[in-house]
Amino acid sequence: MSCVQKANMLPEKDPKRQGEKDPQEDPSVTLFREYLRIKTVQPEPDYDTAVKFLERIGSELGLQCQKVEVCPGRVITILTWKGTNPHLRSILLNSHTDVVPVFEEYWRYDPFSAFKDSEGNIYARGAQDMKCVSIQYIEAIRKLKAEGRQFPRTVHMSFVPDEEIGGHKGMEMFVKRPEFATLNVGFALDEGLANPTDTFTVFYGEKCPWWIKVKVEGNPGHGSRFIENTAAEKMHRVITSFLEFREREKQRLKSEKHLTLGDVTSLNLTMLNGGISFNVVPSEMSAAFDIRIPPTVDLKAFEEQLTAWCRAAGEGVSYEFHQEHEAAMRDLPCCHRQPLYQSGECKCLSCVHLSCQLISSSTLVELLLSPPPTVLQAGHPAIGFSPMNRTPVLLHDHNEFLNEQVFLRGIEIYAHLISALASVLPLQAEA
Ligand SMILES: [Zn+2]
Repeated sequence: MSCVQKANMLPEKDPKRQGEKDPQEDPSVTLFREYLRIKTVQPEPDYDTAVKFLERIGSELGLQCQKVEVCPGRVITILTWKGTNPHLRSILLNSHTDVVPVFEEYWRYDPFSAFKDSEGNIYARGAQDMKCVSIQYIEAIRKLKAEGRQFPRTVHMSFVPDEEIGGHKGMEMFVKRPEFATLNVGFALDEGLANPTDTFTVFYGEKCPWWIKVKVEGNPGHGSRFIENTAAEKMHRVITSFLEFREREKQRLKSEKHLTLGDVTSLNLTMLNGGISFNVVPSEMSAAFDIRIPPTVDLKAFEEQLTAWCRAAGEGVSYEFHQEHEAAMRDLPCCHRQPLYQSGECKCLSCVHLSCQLISSSTLVELLLSPPPTVLQAGHPAIGFSPMNRTPVLLHDHNEFLNEQVFLRGIEIYAHLISALASVLPLQAEA
């Protein structure tokens, strides 16, 4: 069993390194800490140990285990709990196995020791992002199975490599494979973010990033004269229009209490180029803007606005897109909103304050929620949700931790969520 095997992996700085088991510790927490000790840290993650660990759990739980090597050394592990009706679309519980690098000198404890302090805070890289979720899925299924539950829908857990470096050799390749199509996914869950308040955050949409370069042309000349229609004058007008808009959105976010960063358009001037010499008025200048637009904004109208600002700045002002994505709105069918967002259908969740927020950066739920190729793109609704309330957001930060009580409550939440999703409620894809 897990606790025996973990003994020789216990690292330094952990007072329990002698291998003695804590009889008081919940076995789910012990398993979580064992997983945290596997060094799947970029840039050289120990994926072999992680895959073996997952295989072991799969056989413990009597789940089907499938391994798909999408490219050498990059294996997607899928553990499957078969439903009673194979014709129904399945539920996919996705998590990534890799974690981001650490700066050990800034950590209070060895980031791969999964040290637990007297308050039950477990410190480790991956404690929030997102080894907690992987083990919570597993333990929720263990719990449901132990209760003798069976559901019409099949539930798959996928454990993917390389998400933290873009997922190109992970989920991105997997969604194009026939093995993925065979999963017949109707709905997917992936990672979210911690929330320091009592509230849980659910991500159901993402902002659409526009990277735009505005080029202005003007009359060149000697720096000692008043040249008419210079590039700088036009650039001044462009920047003013863009930054005034930025200020309006910033104020809107500040003054309207119900808004989050995900609800407003953010805009920043990130690069300025132009000029060759102190005494030469340049004929060309450019400015780069990073704009993030919520899915509720009419993109066509927004682009018309940009065009108008550029036109108003004068002749010879143009812009080009350096990267453009369609905004994606995870518009959940009502049947899923209910168990997730209301208490009516799913009484057990009524104690959970779920707040819906749009994600404010496209780096969050990278593969499932952002193009290119994602589960979403492949046509499957998904939400990003990590059940971590009362927890500071420490993903990718030093001293990342999760409290064991919060972790354990997450297992209960997933158990409810999985039983709601895996029941017969029609999914969007079946409607
Ligand atoms: Zn993550």
